Amino acid sequence: MVKETIRVYARVKPPGKRQQAGIYSVDDNEKSLSSLEIIVPRDLADGFVNNKRESYKFKFQKIFDQEAKQDAVFDSIAKPVAECVLAGYNGTIFAYGQTGSGKTFTITGGAERYSDRGIIPRTLSYIFDQLQKDSSKVYTTHVSYLEIYNECGYDLLDPRHEASKLEDLPKVTIMEDPDQNIHLKNLSLQQATNEEEALNLLFLGDTNRMIAETPMNQASTRSHCIFTIHISSKEPGSATIRRSKLHLVDLAGSERVAKTGVGGHLLTEAKYINLSLHYLEQVIIALAEKNRSHIPYRNSMMTSVLRDSLGGNCMTTMIATLSLDKRNIDESLSTCRFAQRVALIKNEEILNEEIDPKLMIVQLKKEIQELKDELALVTGKERTSELSQDELLQLDELIETFLEDNDPDSTLDVGADMRKIKYCFIHVKQLMNHSKISDTKLLSQHISEEKDTNKEAGEEELKKLKELLQQRDNEINILVNMLKKEKKKAQDALFQLNAASAGSTVLEQSHSINLEESQSPSSCFSLKEAKDFSSSVHRLPFLSRQTGEKMSLGCQEAFEVFKRDHADSITIEDNKQLLNQRFTEAKHLGEKLNEVRNKINHLKGEINQRHIQRAALAISSPSEELHTLDPVEEKLRTQIEEEKNRYKTMFNRLKGLKVEIEHLQLLMEKVKVKLQKDFEVWWSEESINLQV
Ligand code: ADP
Ligand code: MG
Repeated sequence: MVKETIRVYARVKPPGKRQQAGIYSVDDNEKSLSSLEIIVPRDLADGFVNNKRESYKFKFQKIFDQEAKQDAVFDSIAKPVAECVLAGYNGTIFAYGQTGSGKTFTITGGAERYSDRGIIPRTLSYIFDQLQKDSSKVYTTHVSYLEIYNECGYDLLDPRHEASKLEDLPKVTIMEDPDQNIHLKNLSLQQATNEEEALNLLFLGDTNRMIAETPMNQASTRSHCIFTIHISSKEPGSATIRRSKLHLVDLAGSERVAKTGVGGHLLTEAKYINLSLHYLEQVIIALAEKNRSHIPYRNSMMTSVLRDSLGGNCMTTMIATLSLDKRNIDESLSTCRFAQRVALIKNEEILNEEIDPKLMIVQLKKEIQELKDELALVTGKERTSELSQDELLQLDELIETFLEDNDPDSTLDVGADMRKIKYCFIHVKQLMNHSKISDTKLLSQHISEEKDTNKEAGEEELKKLKELLQQRDNEINILVNMLKKEKKKAQDALFQLNAASAGSTVLEQSHSINLEESQSPSSCFSLKEAKDFSSSVHRLPFLSRQTGEKMSLGCQEAFEVFKRDHADSITIEDNKQLLNQRFTEAKHLGEKLNEVRNKINHLKGEINQRHIQRAALAISSPSEELHTLDPVEEKLRTQIEEEKNRYKTMFNRLKGLKVEIEHLQLLMEKVKVKLQKDFEVWWSEESINLQV
């Protein structure tokens, strides 16, 4: 059992365009803790801060100043927690701060650059890396993604998210078992066997979060999001299971209601948020007090969910995100004050281990069976329990030849060795499962497409026509407005260029500028387009969200122009170029990898040849010398070793590239969904304006 306080870090966001100096200073000189001094400007000191003091000092484990990069933040903050979780303890990292102070940037990451990826993707990458290295245990990983909005929980990984409104989705509810353990009903745990699958789930959740958001419910600033990685591990042959989970929490903005000064619906929301952060604060105060027996976890959904991860057996870390400019002084002070209270809590980390009796029986049975098998196949040879790398490679080759051999009489002969026989079966099963999964995916895609057409057919004709008429009117008006603007732009341009390119109509040109060359004209404004863009369509089922109706030509035209003028299109272009670069790099590496593989095979062949020669020599002229080491073979072996090392380095680089490429593709798809959402919002605003 380890006892320690909650670690509290601070991160200062880089300012916007207007640089303001002298508001704060960071002192890193002290031995273990750093201190942050916030200096209240003179003109504010008598105002709402309501105190004559001119500066405030706060202590943090470490302070990440404006220029701190995401990898440094990950290394200091998240890596130690991830290590704890891998060892079987629970962990929580939460970001607290006002809206716009960098919580989402820190937890999930920026939407543009690969290097801007935040704690979640980096932690996933780290965890899967570590799991792969450790062959001493069998690991299972799941993820869940919960959003809490107005005290209701929603499953961000629920596939229904794509087609329904937030209110219509089943709510996640809290259940308590007799041992006071918390269970969440309607929150799915999705298995992720590798980094790629986990990243896909993260992006699915983020996209769902974005889709659910409307101008009336800016869920991202007013909701809490909890991304949880669940790991269970077991040593082969043991019945003890270790389970641990890591919560990565992006809290709602901590700003006070009074300042936002809004009424009606928004006020209800703001009040709720404040309430739930207020309850979080109460729980934290209670945890910090000595000898306090009752902790008010039940007051809010969030504190209930994090119950075993705030106090109790957990390694908890908080990141206070600060946007330190003059306007935000009081919010920054209140964030720091909250952080200081959190730093007082002492947690006890307990290893989460349990023995599963069912598993024990299964294991014993398996052991008996294995002993019987061994007995039946007594070979008389002594063996180590693991197959060597060379043996595995040999088996792989044998299986491959066997599978590719069209001769019905061909057999797979690996000798009377249970380990080899089992390995072959597992390998073949994996191959089979792999092809099965791709088949079912194709099938389900097909079925859902069929359903769509049936649904469309059942709509009321007249109502539809009337609505269509209204829409067309709107469209024409919006397009006329756009046309006017374009014309004006064209005139300005012409004026400046002194009519150099006379005769060409600017409008025509503008319409021919597409973001994607591969786009077909009829696919506009359906999310299919985002799908077309990526080569990895099959991995992103969420992008097939039904938009309900096809867009009219007019709307498509408008979308083209909107897209051209939208800032995000630059990001898409940049990323597209980067992606192309990476693809070329990966292709090049792949080719090189093949070369090295061929070389290794060639060297192996040479060694074999050498063996045969020496054996023949031994028969014809048996002499002492032949029993000594063969220098030629030694040399060949060193060469193989070298090539193998090269192979490994290149392979790892290729693996890294693959992850980066996938990440970039997901980022681009996200930007595209956002572009389409922005367009939807803009379009409906224009329509409403015109009706008014
Ligand atoms: P929050 O989630 O706290 O509301 P965001 O993470 O969305 O805030 O940050 C607001 C804006 O500031 C985003 O555009 C984000 O990219 C940017 N930003 C935040 N922190 C940083 C940082 N450390 N470096 C660069 N940009 C940042
Ligand atoms: Mg945010």
